[in-house]
Amino acid sequence: MQRKVFNLGDIVEMKKPHPCGTNAWKVIRMGMDIRMKCTGCGHSVLLPRSRFEKRMKRVLIPAESNGDENSRPGSL
Ligand SMILES: [Zn+2]
Repeated sequence: MQRKVFNLGDIVEMKKPHPCGTNAWKVIRMGMDIRMKCTGCGHSVLLPRSRFEKRMKRVLIPAESNGDENSRPGSL
């Protein structure tokens, strides 16, 4: 299985949408665990990295193109 690539600030799609109907999550913390936030209702979820990688389908919007200032050090 191919290892999934994702970065802080990416908007990702999961295999199952959030109960609110949105399936676009923003990665807001990376580490042993991944914290992601539903872009629809703002609910945030903490998942172990292995579980996150299993549930994630793909990156919808890479961090560098969605205007996240945290992912663009040096740009003012
Ligand atoms: Zn939601």
